[in-house]
Amino acid sequence: MSQRLCWIGLLAVLVWGGANSMTRAQAPDKASRAAIVERIVRDALTHKETYAMLVDLTTKAPHRLSGSPGAAAAVEWARQQMIRSGFENVRLEPCMVPHWERGDIGELKFAEPGEATDEPLPILALGGSEPTPPEGITAEVMMVKTFEELAQRRAEAKGKIVLFNHPMPQTDPSTFSAYGAAVGYRSRGASEAAKAGAVAAIVRSMTTRLDDFPHTGGMRYQEGPKRIPTAAVSTLGVGRIARHLEAGRRVVLHFRQNCRWFEDAPSFNVVGELVGTTHPDEIVLVGGHLDGWDVGHGAHDDGAGTCHSLSAVRTLKKLGLRPKRTIRCVLFMNEENGTAGAKAYLAAHKDELDKHVFALESDRGGFTPRGFTTDANPEALAILAEMATHFTDFGAERMLRGRGGVDISVLREGGVPLVGFLPDPHRYFDLHHSWRDTIDQVNERELELGMAAIASLIYMVADMEETLPRNPKPSN
Ligand SMILES: [Zn+2]
Repeated sequence: MSQRLCWIGLLAVLVWGGANSMTRAQAPDKASRAAIVERIVRDALTHKETYAMLVDLTTKAPHRLSGSPGAAAAVEWARQQMIRSGFENVRLEPCMVPHWERGDIGELKFAEPGEATDEPLPILALGGSEPTPPEGITAEVMMVKTFEELAQRRAEAKGKIVLFNHPMPQTDPSTFSAYGAAVGYRSRGASEAAKAGAVAAIVRSMTTRLDDFPHTGGMRYQEGPKRIPTAAVSTLGVGRIARHLEAGRRVVLHFRQNCRWFEDAPSFNVVGELVGTTHPDEIVLVGGHLDGWDVGHGAHDDGAGTCHSLSAVRTLKKLGLRPKRTIRCVLFMNEENGTAGAKAYLAAHKDELDKHVFALESDRGGFTPRGFTTDANPEALAILAEMATHFTDFGAERMLRGRGGVDISVLREGGVPLVGFLPDPHRYFDLHHSWRDTIDQVNERELELGMAAIASLIYMVADMEETLPRNPKPSN
């Protein structure tokens, strides 16, 4: 047990045993639920349709950054998948999304001291960054580990390229919380460096690996400071720069990138349903995000969550498992660089927020399912934890305190219990937002079992006699 606790980090709390607090009225028919889960798992592993769907998505729309032709292709692909699988009320719900393009791959290389190999340092512009001037920026490097260090050495930063060398903490057993501890340097680094007079900001890639794959991701400029260009460099690239600095040598880098912004573009969330039998107005939402970065194919992020969600509803429909409440599949647009889709969903469905009884998001990749994280109130959590005991055979029985997901977090204001799918976290950041996020990194059985756990959980929640107890609405 202590190993399990370590695995997810100190904040996580295991909650089984909570099933004891369930009332008699809510007690499910355990045997019939077990039989349903078994049917779903068997179907998933027999036909492997989730994986086939992900192959199709990553072949037909590999690059799905908001506003791009690839994102538009993904929208149409998802709509066709829903229609073909017999979803009901299939529709596109509009949103306006930011449109940023990387341009060419850019370059970062040593001007001083010359390296024997003189190989460029692998970089990727951060999503939303300004370009450098066409001729690039050549400036001395100042390396810092933290914003505090930057503040202490502020006088040195003027006219320099600030390198934020803040690794994801290796000692954290949860890579997701390790990412959370470091990602602020990616999202805020450029503006903090600009405040100190820097001319550019380079950020150590958000990964626990040492390799030469840079990892992009969203960044935001604050109002006020100059909008200086920013990119992520590979972890081995950071090492090459750091070795010189630590030896007391002055390092001058040449940095060039030609990314650019365009006008906001029209796009869509893709929505389809399996309408409930007796409470069709009550909604159990399942979803992921359809957009993805322009490097790699977004196979795990979030092609996996997209296909988990589509395939879960398709599997229930195919097996004739139509629950009491409506299951609504929502494939959100623009999770990566703006969450315009999530905001548009909330705006369009504000009137039926109270009818959303549960929401589940899959956006942590398609690796071996371990369970779920949830912000549900203790009573609902006990019910969900009991449901998850049906996934013990394939090791996906955890129901831990934690987050739902970025897109569904907009439903929190309605007191909707939120759940996030939790796969094994150790390889996700090897490939997250990088060229490596391709279909060959996805294991069919792992992906299918994740889908089976999701399909089973949403079915059980949607088919409960009593509605899952809601969370208190946040007061603000
Ligand atoms: Zn994602």
